[in-house]
Amino acid sequence: MRIGCPSEIKNHEYRVGLTPESARELVANGHEVWVQTGAGAGIGAYDDQYETAGARIVGGPDEIFAECEMIVKVKEPQAAERAKLREGQILYTYLHLAPDPEQTADLVKSGVTAIAYETVTGPNGILPLLKPMSQVAGRMSIQAGATALEKAHGGRGVLLGGVPGVMPGKVAVIGGGVVGFNAAQMAVGLGADVTILDRDPEVLEKVGTHFESRASTRFSNKANLEDSVCQADLVIGAVLIPGAAAPKLITREMLSDMQPGAVLVDVAIDQGGCFETSKATTHADPTYIVDDIVHYCVANMPGAVARTSTYALNNVTLPHALRIARDGWKAALRNNPHLAQGLNVHAGSVTYEAVASELGYDY
Ligand code: NAD
Repeated sequence: MRIGCPSEIKNHEYRVGLTPESARELVANGHEVWVQTGAGAGIGAYDDQYETAGARIVGGPDEIFAECEMIVKVKEPQAAERAKLREGQILYTYLHLAPDPEQTADLVKSGVTAIAYETVTGPNGILPLLKPMSQVAGRMSIQAGATALEKAHGGRGVLLGGVPGVMPGKVAVIGGGVVGFNAAQMAVGLGADVTILDRDPEVLEKVGTHFESRASTRFSNKANLEDSVCQADLVIGAVLIPGAAAPKLITREMLSDMQPGAVLVDVAIDQGGCFETSKATTHADPTYIVDDIVHYCVANMPGAVARTSTYALNNVTLPHALRIARDGWKAALRNNPHLAQGLNVHAGSVTYEAVASELGYDY
């Protein structure tokens, strides 16, 4: 199959659909890979590395969209890219169609076969093509929080790990799923005093068994949340109720009981945020202060570490790309029910029930 990897054109998107290593795997399996010149520059992967991997470098996106049977990307296609998609072509990327009627209409009109990373499932109910981004965001949340705790950033001047003779900082992680687990790992690694709150007993048992005495676990109810948050130097918001907006677990009123200069990192901001005072921020201006509490609410945290994020993403997207390229999309989806869950649009129809019902398409 001929597979194309155009440059990402969404504002401030530095990731790329295929790393040189992924291109090499596809070429080694008998496929052709066309990469737009400079597509990997944002992660330090240059044209010569793709050429060494056996890919062909092409000057612009037009040739790629016109000639390639499968387009591999990171972000949803922008309007200019959607205009280039055509019937029978496979699009393999993040789409997030439910809140995006314009994109959905364009994909339907184009006749493309669109497989969305975010709806591909895994054997134990997880979403394996989303998981690496949660891992990245969870780990980053502690870095971001540690920086915000510095005086120059409005924080209370606490070093999370402490030093001999001085107590470490206190970190409360609300939600012990993928983001929370990874946040806790980083905080524990720094030597912080870590508490993980969740309302799912199985999650509490899993993180409790993993961290043993290196972190405490607490059931997430109002009393325990208030107590942990008031003591914390750094609070990580990492809750998710699938398909719903994040619950507002920390109210504005609670901020006055917190220590001035404490930091809230709301990773759940992409689902509306789990603190009442959260509003989405960008990497260019990531924090703001409400009632003496520093808020960090960046909605696309993995974008800041584009190189790590691209490699993490390719680790999970490449195996399916290889299957689709080898078997064709129809057989690949028939043979793998988890990959089949990724099909969102095909030949002029919406083929994913939640998107169809949200946007009023027949299913
Ligand atoms: P997950 O499903 O793995 O974990 C969520 C956890 O929250 C679960 O363990 C659940 O039991 C727990 N939870 C639900 N309600 C709770 C409550 N009231 N109190 C305590 N815990 C509660 O999800 P995840 O992959 O860890 O993602 C967490 C959030 O981070 C999601 O909103 C996700 O979209 C977001 N996220 C944001 C970024 C970013 O760049 N900002 C990147 C990746 C993920």
